[in-house]
Amino acid sequence: MPDAVRRVAVALPRPLPTPFDYCLDANVAASPLRGCRLRVPLGRGETVGIAVDEAQVPQGDTGALKSVLERIDAVPILQGELWSSLVWLARYLHAPVGEVLATALPASLRQGAALPETQAHGWRLSEAGHTALAGLRAGAPRRFAELLATREHSEEDLDARHPGWRAHARSLAKRDLVERIKIDAVVAAPTVPPPVLNDEQRAAADAIASNESFSVALLDGVTGSGKTEVYLDAIARTLARGRQALVLVPEIGLTPQMLERFRTRLGVPIHALHSGLPEGERARSWTAALRGQARVIVGTRSAAFVPLPEAGLIVVDEEHDGSYKQFDGIRYHARDFAIVRAKALGIPIVLGSATPSLESLHNAQAGRYAHLRLHRRAGSAHPPQVRVIDVRKRPLQAGLGPEAVAAIESTLAAGGQVLVFRNRRGYAPVLLCHDCGWSAQCRHCDSPMTVHGAGRRLICHHCGAQRPVPPACPQCAGLALQPQGNGTERIEEFLSQYFANVPVLRIDRGSTQARDGLQKHLDALGTHPGILIGTQMLAKGHDLPNLTLVVVVGIDEGLFSADFRAGEKLAQLLVQVAGRAGRADKPGAVLLQTHHPDHPLLQTLVTQGYHAFADGELAEREAAGFPPFAHMALLRAEAKHGDPVMHFLQAAKRHAADVAIEVHGPLAAPMPRRAGYQRMQLILSSPSRAALQSVLDAWVPLLYAMPEARRVRWSLDVDPADLY
Ligand code: ADP
Ligand code: ZN
Ligand code: ZN
Repeated sequence: MPDAVRRVAVALPRPLPTPFDYCLDANVAASPLRGCRLRVPLGRGETVGIAVDEAQVPQGDTGALKSVLERIDAVPILQGELWSSLVWLARYLHAPVGEVLATALPASLRQGAALPETQAHGWRLSEAGHTALAGLRAGAPRRFAELLATREHSEEDLDARHPGWRAHARSLAKRDLVERIKIDAVVAAPTVPPPVLNDEQRAAADAIASNESFSVALLDGVTGSGKTEVYLDAIARTLARGRQALVLVPEIGLTPQMLERFRTRLGVPIHALHSGLPEGERARSWTAALRGQARVIVGTRSAAFVPLPEAGLIVVDEEHDGSYKQFDGIRYHARDFAIVRAKALGIPIVLGSATPSLESLHNAQAGRYAHLRLHRRAGSAHPPQVRVIDVRKRPLQAGLGPEAVAAIESTLAAGGQVLVFRNRRGYAPVLLCHDCGWSAQCRHCDSPMTVHGAGRRLICHHCGAQRPVPPACPQCAGLALQPQGNGTERIEEFLSQYFANVPVLRIDRGSTQARDGLQKHLDALGTHPGILIGTQMLAKGHDLPNLTLVVVVGIDEGLFSADFRAGEKLAQLLVQVAGRAGRADKPGAVLLQTHHPDHPLLQTLVTQGYHAFADGELAEREAAGFPPFAHMALLRAEAKHGDPVMHFLQAAKRHAADVAIEVHGPLAAPMPRRAGYQRMQLILSSPSRAALQSVLDAWVPLLYAMPEARRVRWSLDVDPADLY
């Protein structure tokens, strides 16, 4: 075909239902393009897309196709299993493939940056350094030289253990006493030996290791039962087989403490991937995984997208955690996608939790997952004593009843630490006029504004709007404006006055932006008596061996939520928070304050435990036709005015009529107005996942084509985490 041209379909990071066609000039290299990044013109600008398909077409057939501007990758960066899993994901979520592929890439690669250097480097003493060592002046540079005199050290190791080393390295390198060398990724041996696993851990570890092909194991073990030791055992065996391991952890579980534990126990560099990393490091970890240099990758949600050319094992820690579900853009579930990938890769996957999701328990009960149980805490720790405290008619100070205050007092007197858990940031959830009943509402959302700054500012937690607390009631001009209820700031105010002689640390998104900041606070506290006040940021991740009392306040709103998952989430949170108490050899106590001491959720949970609660909840979900017994998709739409939203959803509903599914709505969203947008939704549900998928296959292209769709912002959420 002398007059043929190459036409390439490019998936663009835009909400477009299909890829865009471009043509390729002769000067673009001819090797296969699929999975390579291409810079292409779009509108008046340009963007980076990914080639999905190419064909030779006769010259005349290319019409007005624009030309690809640049081929960025000589070889595909998305390929093999990851490529096919991502294409599967786009189909399953009914999301634009270009957006799914872009989501899989670290931001700099998405924007077209070259793949970064991933060669690991280390430092060693030069020959001149060995000679000069004895004559060096005492001080930090000399200590650094002495460290290198024993053996070479990787930069990763130095970063982790010898802060400030770079300055010494620079000054010594100027005199040629030390030198930077390339090292293999796998260097050191484990520096900390593993504990002897107890019988249940051994059995779980052996069950996982018995299998090198695809299988799902639910590692269901109480908090502190040593699940992490089971993961480490499985990862060590995976490394020994010459394979890579991927470990997913919740957003707040990925702490420096945890990475250090993995590093010292496994003896290989740990490649971290989380939202707090500088972009360059994210791209480096991702690329090191692509090149097979990263052997252990530990990351949060988006790490589910790392390439694993030599995959051997995937672990999902705290598999029930809500942070695995992405709430905007591409609404994937990292745990579920990890299972899909493990299947495609033909490798085992371990889902661990003290409070497994109802989905996973259901799968284990149905025999689809191996159910591995750890019933007891490892080592010498005992389970905490949980007491429900009835606070009806009791005097409360910042939400704390007399029993709680007395228990805090005696715990501190005995030298222990206390965690007061309140899942509400700010000073108070509501500002109310005691004279006329006016309360401060957000102007853009159907939601009250939260009082912050010791009662001086109002902030909307949904849209971020802020304004000062008014000097007088805007409705009656009275001066009786009062903050109602208690957030973490107000509890902190009370406790730091009441217990003035011990440190009181508030730990929530307001007080602690950086992950390392939190660790610094905790290090400063050490094991001294003190009080921590926290939201769910504190529910896991940090080992607090001297924490012997947990007080949980303000859970009652969770007992009566309309969300079908609210009970499950509350039960998980309570068990996880309770699990913070008494981690080491000191017994722990948990006080649950409530106005509803007889509520069945609390009763079942406290007297019979999480699994009894889960069994009851599963039976209710089955009777009501909710997940995991039904599969759902949620079509959300919003606009400045309500009419277009209603019209769009009504039209969408007409197109969705199908015997295999139920369609509910259009319904107002639980928060009908947010950030100035009117919000409504349509719920599709079916007992059969396949039936729902086939309806969506036909329906979603129609949504893109509907004229009503152009007047709203809409999104589809397959397997929604909640109906919000
Ligand atoms: P989980 O991940 O289930 O919360 P961890 O693996 O963090 O539990 O273990 C809890 C504590 O018990 C840790 O301090 C850990 O070092 C210790 N531990 C775990 N397994 C053993 C064991 N077999 N022998 C002694 N200590 C153990
Ligand atoms: Zn008033
Ligand atoms: Zn708002």
